[in-house]
Amino acid sequence: MKRFLAAVFCMALFCSLTGCKSTGESSVEFYAMDTTMNVTAYGTGAKSAVSETQAEVDRLEALLSRTRSDSEVSAINSGAADAPVAVSIETAGLLNAAWSYSHTTNGAFDITIAPVVSAWGFTTDHYQVPTQPALDALLNAVDYTGVLVEGISSSSARVTLRKGQAVDLGGIAKGYASDCVEAILSENGVERAMASLGGNIYVRGTKPDGSAWRVGVQDPDRSGGFVGVLSLSDAFAVTSGGYQRYFEQDGKRYHHIIDPATGYPAESGLTSVTIVADGNKTETPNIPGNGTMCDAFSTAMFVMGEEKAAEFWRSGAYNFQMVLVTEDGRVLVTDGLADKFEQEDGSGYAYETISRTPS
Ligand code: ADP
Ligand code: MG
Repeated sequence: MKRFLAAVFCMALFCSLTGCKSTGESSVEFYAMDTTMNVTAYGTGAKSAVSETQAEVDRLEALLSRTRSDSEVSAINSGAADAPVAVSIETAGLLNAAWSYSHTTNGAFDITIAPVVSAWGFTTDHYQVPTQPALDALLNAVDYTGVLVEGISSSSARVTLRKGQAVDLGGIAKGYASDCVEAILSENGVERAMASLGGNIYVRGTKPDGSAWRVGVQDPDRSGGFVGVLSLSDAFAVTSGGYQRYFEQDGKRYHHIIDPATGYPAESGLTSVTIVADGNKTETPNIPGNGTMCDAFSTAMFVMGEEKAAEFWRSGAYNFQMVLVTEDGRVLVTDGLADKFEQEDGSGYAYETISRTPS
């Protein structure tokens, strides 16, 4: 008995020193990619996985940030027009993924929106409404088809931009980071975890008590409020909303998701889009997966608006579900989430389902 009590005491002491709990919980919170991130993992491998995630996100930020002069994205953006710039296979792979999401969304998602995002001041926080002639000039160079990615099968690749072009991976980088966090959790044998990378959620397995993770969908009009809660396991859930980053001028609000067709913040009638897809199945690390897809589509569907987004989802070309919140007070949930979405009582929203066949 004495020996048993001594063992319990040692365990308790060890746990209080290392921060572990009875569930073997480890967590980390840090600031990266312009947002707060946290990762919590449970059980075997949790501690090492959690400590590796911060370093991994920092590595990705150093590679992909547009505002860091030594990043590969900055190297691409400062290269001469029509001259190839050498980049890692990883950056090239992400650019390729971005290219295909631009193509499939008919340019609603377009990483060459970069100069327009800068003109609005979103990269520097010196916000302004650009003049129409300035926007028109910049829009001439907004065209993802001008991004040429070559040599991706060798050990390094090359990226060429056209005159006036620059790329911005802000609409996809956090989603890609969530894919990379997923890979680290896999490598460490973690079975239960939750990662929140600034609006990009990844849940692995179930909660330690065996129930699904609960992921709140924020109410864009009520800070701290929710339009509902998703019960998810092994899934990505990524939200884009006009309420996340914006400035106001002359009583009008201008947010950071730009419609490449106009150069203005998208006014599609949506106030937020949440895209949900399965956790990745691949064992290969550092490959864009469903986290990347969810991030690209949350931005793209926000630009496309309710009808085009529903049509895109119905095409079945990609395996995902979504929650759309509209300006006129409706919450639209695709039927694959019907049993996973719980409405928030008294939220004031009207709830509708989007089915495979239009009603
Ligand atoms: P957040 O970064 O707040 O999670 P998003 O994933 O929707 O939101 O990405 C918005 C960011 O993506 C902007 O800050 C900008 O850098 C970039 N961006 C804005 N509009 C577009 C667009 N139409 N296509 C691709 N990227 C965009
Ligand atoms: Mg996005």
